[in-house]
Amino acid sequence: MSILEDVRDKLAGLGAGALLVSAPANVRYLSGFTSPEDGVVVVTGDRAALVTDGRYTAQAGEESRLEVVIAPSWEECLVEMVGGERLAVESEHLSLQRFRRLAERLGAEPVAAEGFLTSFRLIKTEEEIRDLREAARITDEAFERVVPMIEPGVREIEVALELERHMRLAGSDGPGFHIIVASGKRSAMPHGVASTKVIASGDLVTLDFGAVYHGYHADMTRAVAVGPIDPELRRLFDAVSEAQEAALAAVGPGRTGRELDAIARDLLAGHALADAFSHSLGHGTGLEIHEGPRLSHRSQDLLAPGMSVTVEPGVYRPGFGGVRIEDLAIVTEDGCEVISKSPKSFRQV
Ligand code: ZN
Ligand code: ZN
Repeated sequence: MSILEDVRDKLAGLGAGALLVSAPANVRYLSGFTSPEDGVVVVTGDRAALVTDGRYTAQAGEESRLEVVIAPSWEECLVEMVGGERLAVESEHLSLQRFRRLAERLGAEPVAAEGFLTSFRLIKTEEEIRDLREAARITDEAFERVVPMIEPGVREIEVALELERHMRLAGSDGPGFHIIVASGKRSAMPHGVASTKVIASGDLVTLDFGAVYHGYHADMTRAVAVGPIDPELRRLFDAVSEAQEAALAAVGPGRTGRELDAIARDLLAGHALADAFSHSLGHGTGLEIHEGPRLSHRSQDLLAPGMSVTVEPGVYRPGFGGVRIEDLAIVTEDGCEVISKSPKSFRQV
């Protein structure tokens, strides 16, 4: 596994000889273990092991690509595994309390390494891309199945549960995040998690959801009009649609997150909607729903082939309504491949 060699090189650069991986997504990334909240990975000069407890003896043995160590508490065996080397820890994940306890046990303060594995996870392998594609496919399928039920009288939560049901039956590990179904005035909330609100005629309904396949997250947003909608809402839809297409068309290697964000932002500013676009343009997805690269007005992240990225401009008018359109894409050698396939032109049901 060449990634372990790269991890060791990077460790040496930090003056450390061992790494404790405790962030669940990173534990899963290195080991393949699907209950990463209940384990850690320890990498030293000559070992790389998943350490978990007795509940997982069979599961870890089946899933882990690394040596498995079963122990009642990983802290106990860490000292022996580290063997006097300087230990690096993931500072964005390890609590201060644990950090202090480890320092005491090891007799030396660990090196606080921020985002140690972030750069490794940015570029997806072919296998990871296959999993993302399958997650996106399940997401598309669920959307097509659920659109016919969106009508006046149905509650947002019913739509969300149907989306979840279809995704689970099609092989999704679970919902990757709280499903957003925001109708009418609620569509002005970028994170309007499905409520008991009854969908009414004239509502524009925002649906933001994604399946998870082998741990990999899809993420897609569509807006559906229930009957004729206010012309101003339609204007917002057309503006977001234009900004989304323009930014998506520009996604490719060598672009920075900031440049792409600016394309959508400038376009919306041309429609006098600059202030209504209250979040950033997009993000990578993978073992986590939000990971690098970031597409935001200050992001210097440079896109490269193999990265996954969402493009999701949105505009929101509190008390009135809002629109967001989001696709998931994989950066290729000469642009990107959009893996969200659901139609996104204006749709009235
Ligand atoms: Zn989303
Ligand atoms: Zn997103």
